[in-house]
Amino acid sequence: MAKIKINNVSRKYVTGKNEEFYAIRNISLMFDDAGFVSIIGKSGSGKSTVLNLISRLDSQTEGDVFFDGKDISKLKGKDKIDFYTNKVGILFQNYNLIETETVLMNVSLAGQIKGYGKQKSIELAKEKLKHVGIRENLFDKKASLLSGGEKQRVALARCLINEQDVILCDEPTGALDSNNSINVMKILKDYSLNRLVIMVSHNPQLVNKYSDRIISIKDGRIESDVNKNVQVKPLMRKKFTKKKYNWTNDISASNIKRRLGRNVFSFFALSISLISAFIAVGFSYGKDESLSAATRKQFDYSSGTISKQEEVSKGSLISLTRSVRPKYEDIAKNKIIAQNFDISVNFDAIFPPRPAIDYDGENIDELIMTPVYSFDKKHVDHTLLIDGYVPDNDSLDEMVINKKAFDILSSKIHKSPISENIRISNRVELTYVDFDGTYIADSFELDRLVKITGVVGEMEYLQEPKIYYSYSALEELTKSYILPNLSTYIGNDTTWFDRISDAEDFDSLTSFSYRIFLKEHTNNQTFSSEDFGGLTFSSTSLLIKESLMNFMEVAKYGILIFLIITILGTILIIGIMSFTSYSEDHKTSAILTCLGASNDEIKQIYLNESLLTGMISILFSLVSSFGLSYLINYIINNLTGLTNLISIPIYSFLNIPFLFPLLAIACGLLFSALVTITPITFSKKISLKEELQAL
Ligand code: ADP
Ligand code: MG
Repeated sequence: MAKIKINNVSRKYVTGKNEEFYAIRNISLMFDDAGFVSIIGKSGSGKSTVLNLISRLDSQTEGDVFFDGKDISKLKGKDKIDFYTNKVGILFQNYNLIETETVLMNVSLAGQIKGYGKQKSIELAKEKLKHVGIRENLFDKKASLLSGGEKQRVALARCLINEQDVILCDEPTGALDSNNSINVMKILKDYSLNRLVIMVSHNPQLVNKYSDRIISIKDGRIESDVNKNVQVKPLMRKKFTKKKYNWTNDISASNIKRRLGRNVFSFFALSISLISAFIAVGFSYGKDESLSAATRKQFDYSSGTISKQEEVSKGSLISLTRSVRPKYEDIAKNKIIAQNFDISVNFDAIFPPRPAIDYDGENIDELIMTPVYSFDKKHVDHTLLIDGYVPDNDSLDEMVINKKAFDILSSKIHKSPISENIRISNRVELTYVDFDGTYIADSFELDRLVKITGVVGEMEYLQEPKIYYSYSALEELTKSYILPNLSTYIGNDTTWFDRISDAEDFDSLTSFSYRIFLKEHTNNQTFSSEDFGGLTFSSTSLLIKESLMNFMEVAKYGILIFLIITILGTILIIGIMSFTSYSEDHKTSAILTCLGASNDEIKQIYLNESLLTGMISILFSLVSSFGLSYLINYIINNLTGLTNLISIPIYSFLNIPFLFPLLAIACGLLFSALVTITPITFSKKISLKEELQAL
């Protein structure tokens, strides 16, 4: 059986509208297992076309090409790899070495692609290089630095290393001087004793001297086919076990070095995008806890009021509501309140948030009287104290102020108000007209000197200047403060506490609400208005939290948009970079294909490059965004008092240790891979003929 059979083959080119041109037409040829065959003919006669159809750099438009009896028209996958590693080696006129790699690498690479393993490939490469007359001092030189004669000998060594069944040479000596030409011919002749060498040439002397058979082509047809009928004996192919050495790593490594600037640029682009992404994750992960922590960083965190909204104008177009004091039982049966809060009557009607306050003989009207249930550690956070002390006992003689109040009071007397006294006074008149017309009046009178014992530092955002007083002390006072005229009238001792507790819902004495106080401020609870069913909960901490929440929502969208833009930009940059790298290397890819590299291996080269860049970027970004989050948190803390706003969940995510960095690495690598593989996969198929054939 013929080694190669070309059966009625034509190669047609469409050269213009309704114009076609046949480079070769209806050619049939057979080649034996061994021998030296030359194809001669004028320039443009179709010699290279015949060779290219055998080497599959080109495809026929009509007819079939068989190799070892198999149709090789549509070589793919394993068959293609087998074809180039075992069956056909190509020696080009223009050498087609990988110019950026060393001499030794160029030759040993062919063996590695075939699967000889790195060590054996290097040994074989050295042997073949010496055989073609390349001195050892050239082994580590870049191929680009060699002379033409040296390059062709290196290319020949690369051809010999895999001992393919056939070597195809298209004018291998076209660019060489006569000495070099003869050396190459001798080696090819030697090879042809056991295997097949097909050479295209228009050097008649060399052809006549070395050929066993000469095929002459004219205008795309066979003009003559002369066989000298020399007996040659073909050699059986040696068997070996294929070793998987990932040679792509070596190519990737030198590519990375060669394109260091571009890779550093990709690294920065990816890092910026990743750092933004990590910070954004840190923000959405940390903001709730940060807000809750900020909300808790208030001395009156544990206190609030609870009221009920009642519709005033039922059935009308506009619905008006007003606050009323809910029924005690309604509050007490609410689970959240029952579990976490103590309920108290609201005494604002007799001890309002803004009583008359005198300080150093001057009236101060900015300060707001704010209740805490007690000054003990269960109810207020003593760690907020920044100066002075928190009163040991609950009385209305000692109170604590916040930083804003401190600043106002300090500015009045130009020294610290701690241990100074303020005078708080208020007078409330209460009158009743009984159903028989009797007129009764009582009054609540408060006039006290209060010592300021300490200052608490709170999150100042949205905060008002406050004086914190003990609500339990006020409650005691109201329990002991008797309404003399009313008591006389009804014949029973009635206190302000009784009077306000018993007030009707529509009476302003109720202040239209109850006060509730967290039983313990340390439980880390935060509440939102939804937690209280139909009742309306309000507190300064909730107010601040909700306004911060709104701000954060807006910020979240801003960050999201910024993030999307950054990531899209990065995809584009890295995609373009790897595509450019791949496009620049079309020729290398074509060479590797003809050495038997698979498409996947060629992709792997570029994948390695971006995966390494990606991996370094991810690690760098993880570390630097972690560091950066500290800096951002420090700045935000100084500006707003919020702590740990950015909290990147490095150590634990969804309760799984180190899930986040692992996810980041996985996603980052996937991202790098996709961005590299996608444009390469969808790019135009590389034309081997165009990349490799000399013009
Ligand atoms: P040679 O015998 O010099 O090696 P080739 O086999 O390379 O000749 O080319 C045979 C003919 O085919 C030439 O006339 C050439 O111009 C033509 N040819 C080669 N490639 C193309 C192409 N891509 N488009 C049109 N004509 C082509
Ligand atoms: Mg040619």
